Amino acid sequence: MQRSRNKITTIRKAGFRRAAFLLLPSFLLLSGLLLASCETVPAEKTRTVFALNTVISVTYYDGKDREAVDRALASLAEYERIFSRTDPESELSALNASTNIAVPVSEDLFTVMKTAWQISEWTDGAFDCTLGGISDLYDFTGTHRVPSDEELEELLAHTGYEKVVLDEENRTVTKLDAGLKIDLGAIAKGYVADRMKEELMNAGVKRAILNLGGNVLLIGDKYGASGQQFSSSPQKGLFAIGIRDPESETPLATLYLADYSLVTSGTYERCFYAENVLYHHILDARTGRPVRNGLLSVSVVSSDSMTADALSTACFVLGEEKSKELLLRFSEVRVIFVNEEKQIRKIE
Ligand code: AMP
Ligand code: MG
Repeated sequence: MQRSRNKITTIRKAGFRRAAFLLLPSFLLLSGLLLASCETVPAEKTRTVFALNTVISVTYYDGKDREAVDRALASLAEYERIFSRTDPESELSALNASTNIAVPVSEDLFTVMKTAWQISEWTDGAFDCTLGGISDLYDFTGTHRVPSDEELEELLAHTGYEKVVLDEENRTVTKLDAGLKIDLGAIAKGYVADRMKEELMNAGVKRAILNLGGNVLLIGDKYGASGQQFSSSPQKGLFAIGIRDPESETPLATLYLADYSLVTSGTYERCFYAENVLYHHILDARTGRPVRNGLLSVSVVSSDSMTADALSTACFVLGEEKSKELLLRFSEVRVIFVNEEKQIRKIE
């Protein structure tokens, strides 16, 4: 769908800091990102697990929802068996081990693959769901290492979304290159967050905050009223979600939301320093090196978390100017770019 307008505003950090100073005392910082206000709503309770390689929590308000929350968290194991790139038994690992054969895949895997492939095509490969081999070289979640130019060059020859063929009718995926590794790390958490929200809502949960390692998804508002709401200033009943400043407990900006998802991609999420140089996990598909375009983070607000997740990574790799074209394809998304000077620019 075409977007009718493209409004851009610049907000300086200092202004936000002042606003945050006035507005934040009643907020509680959760996981360094979430802020839940202390209005006259029941006290929240949070359940936390480690899954999908990250910390996952659900904050809920009604005691009766505890069982449903535990069940939803337990169901994460099923998604791990589909999307994990590190588990050799996962469905994705089986697909990655195949070459030149049409592999029948689950509906979950196909849906995520299809969206990842589509975003890869729309961004002309700047977002590329086949960079798994390159990510592995850096070992971001393990020992950390800086790959050599030769290693990168060798593996770059085995990347490229166009070497993956999707057949919707037969629900199969064919990898045309043995050395290519599909990586859905930029999008799978968003998909799983959407499924969890669905599961919780089907179980009757009316208000909750899901946080999958920075992928935040809201059910209802704090009073359990349904309907999407967005505001840049505090509103009764809306959840206050902060955009993280990696150097401070005070968020860079705070959004007030109900029923929406907010997902952030940042250079501080999975990273390490080597000889004073920052190596982070969002990679330039042309060079295999971390994207260095002056951005600190990109946050996206969308009604579903898979779109927000895909777009936060895609807009990060594209940068603000090139993102505008991609964003024309999406209605109702808001994007917040934060540069390394912590200046904030919004596209809405
Ligand atoms: P996110 O935190 O959602 O921005 O996703 C970052 C993850 O996506 C990384 O940890 C990689 O697994 C993967 N990734 C890195 N660079 C790219 C890229 N250029 N296109 C698509 N996925 C990427
Ligand atoms: Mg993402």
